[in-house]
Amino acid sequence: MLRSHSENEMYLTTFMHRSFIRSLLDYTDVIHDNCSKFNTVKLEHVQRRACIIATGAIRLTKHETLLQEVGLETLKSRQRHHRLVYLYKIKNKLTPSFRSNLHSMINHNTLNYNFRRQNQIILIRTRTTCFYNSFFPAPIRDWNNLPLVVSSAISVTCFKNALNKTDEVNTSKKLYSLGHSYEKILHTRLRLGLSRLSKHLFNYNLCLSKFCDHCDGNTIEDTEHYLLKCSHYTTPRITLLLNVKHIICPDINITLLRDL
Ligand SMILES: [Zn+2]
Repeated sequence: MLRSHSENEMYLTTFMHRSFIRSLLDYTDVIHDNCSKFNTVKLEHVQRRACIIATGAIRLTKHETLLQEVGLETLKSRQRHHRLVYLYKIKNKLTPSFRSNLHSMINHNTLNYNFRRQNQIILIRTRTTCFYNSFFPAPIRDWNNLPLVVSSAISVTCFKNALNKTDEVNTSKKLYSLGHSYEKILHTRLRLGLSRLSKHLFNYNLCLSKFCDHCDGNTIEDTEHYLLKCSHYTTPRITLLLNVKHIICPDINITLLRDL
């Protein structure tokens, strides 16, 4: 099902990952985000696998670049968001009544404390790394680093929006989903910086030379050279530009490109 080749394959695969897989990974992440580094990497690998299937990217592609392409963030980043949102709910007594005892743990009398900013929470003293990274000590540290405009939000929705704005959460670009499957994969690989171009392969130690085989020995074969400059592709490039000329720039003189 994940490998179905439809017009919006990337969008559909990402949507399915968000709905059916990531929701499972997110379950109780407020608590389990304190797991070992080994398990964190294993969980993140599930998301990475979904990104590779969605984009058709080569396996060695950098993880951050992949996530940016499909508009996802790392699970670690999501866990931080979820912890902060949960802390907000506790602080504002929005949690269920049977958890009301949690409220007293973070709402202290702060009159005797000299905080640089309002709305901060007293840090909890820790002795072990495990407790230091667990719920309460870790999100309180994150909370105290939030801008006042975020921590003083008047509702959960406002808090989430302000948090997303501060952290510049990735969003997918619908334009990337347009086109046919194979062409989309080639475009994606060019954007991700790992395609069959010499410069991309050279950057990942997959090729001995970064220079273009079709030009003189000193011309680097990167995306710009391949799409706009390489003389080997002048004819298909002019055909392409003539077809899209009315969209990008009606006044452009395509024939000048022959001289490049
Ligand atoms: Zn060339």
